[in-house]
Amino acid sequence: MARIVMKFGGTSVADLDRIRRVADLVEGEARAGHEVAVVVSAMSGETNRLVAFVDALDGDLVGGDNKTRGDAIDDEYDAIVSSGEQVTSGLLAIALRRRGLKARSWLGWQIPLKTDMAHGKARIEAIDNELLDTSMSSGNIAVVAGFQGIAADGRISTLGRGGSDTSAVALAVALKADRCDIYTDVDGIYTTDPRIVLEARRLKRIAFEEMLELASLGAKVLQVRSVELAMNNNLPIRVLTSFAEDGADNPGTLVCHEDETMEERVVSGVAYSRDEAQITILRLADKPGMVAKICKTMSDANVIVDMIVQSISKAESAANLTFTVGKRDLDKALAALEAVKDEIGFEGITSDSNVTKVSIVGIGMRSHTGVAQTMFEALAERGINVEVIATSEIKISVLINAEYTELAVRALHSAFELEVA
Ligand code: ADP
Ligand code: ASP
Ligand code: MG
Repeated sequence: MARIVMKFGGTSVADLDRIRRVADLVEGEARAGHEVAVVVSAMSGETNRLVAFVDALDGDLVGGDNKTRGDAIDDEYDAIVSSGEQVTSGLLAIALRRRGLKARSWLGWQIPLKTDMAHGKARIEAIDNELLDTSMSSGNIAVVAGFQGIAADGRISTLGRGGSDTSAVALAVALKADRCDIYTDVDGIYTTDPRIVLEARRLKRIAFEEMLELASLGAKVLQVRSVELAMNNNLPIRVLTSFAEDGADNPGTLVCHEDETMEERVVSGVAYSRDEAQITILRLADKPGMVAKICKTMSDANVIVDMIVQSISKAESAANLTFTVGKRDLDKALAALEAVKDEIGFEGITSDSNVTKVSIVGIGMRSHTGVAQTMFEALAERGINVEVIATSEIKISVLINAEYTELAVRALHSAFELEVA
């Protein structure tokens, strides 16, 4: 007998028929004698619908033109957007009981799954699994509402978009599960988003570090924190589809520590993110401490700066500084910069939210040369201009005009021959 955590995302529980299908899959594991905890997301589209309600009302209060949710309402945001998972956990528990199985739903506060106070993007601090353990040991399937927990203030918290993945991994760690299976609408991790590149290929295995980069750089198939947590606890995750026919082969992808059986590739995948916006500070004085002042302005405004590039004109002893911030934070960032313009001393600010960050990722990049050259040649051949570049040991990211997103992803996918097994 094994202990298994199974997680089902929004499309896997999109309607009652899909929930019946999930119940079949859970029943299969339970009847095989395993102890099962299931984590569910809200029905697909539901969380977006709830977020839109909050944003609309929040907009009313501050004059209708804000794009950044006021901090003052984040606790209520959590009370509202967590509700989608309450519905699906209850429905799945009913579907399981109707199959003659013992099952009950668990909300975050009932477990309790404790988080910090960062409402809207809370981190899990502890899971008290005593109640769950007792219930599961007496034969109950635990159906856990993903994405939610309870903060130290006793209020509901949520774990950031896509957070049910993290609920599942954290639960698997706490319950010392033998397996953590993440069911979704694609049959594994691909070399790039299979919705953009038809030739994308499913990987049999991928190293935690590569998955972490891909997820951080925009591949929304797993939430970043879920990969971090799995890596730190050495818990392999299997990503597979809930849409497979009965009895069909469904091996998925194993996300695990790097080992010698992994494909020997320089680049493993291509990711893209449309969530960033570009800001350029014009004619900043070229002297020590100026970039630090800009970065401080951003961090004081609670804005995270990602890619940075500076171009200096020695003749004029001035620099243009370009960097990226989250699209949601753009207005907040511009307002903060405008407020310190005279104090810091620069000529102006421009911004562009019509940009995409496209990245290549691979642990093989550590030991190979010429990767950047192949990347930039592939982009140049298609006439795609690169605005900002960022690199690490195992990734290269470029910021480009959003219009060329698909073209760039396809160009890089084929330049590194990722379609070839
Ligand atoms: P769920 O609702 O099950 O959590 P998500 O929509 O969060 O599912 O994640 C699955 C989606 O991730 C896929 O439909 C796919 O379009 C997208 N995706 C992006 N990059 C990749 C990738 N490299 N491999 C697989 N899927 C990817
Ligand atoms: N329902 C939440 C979201 O859409 C959490 C999840 O699906 O993982 O972000
Ligand atoms: Mg998801």
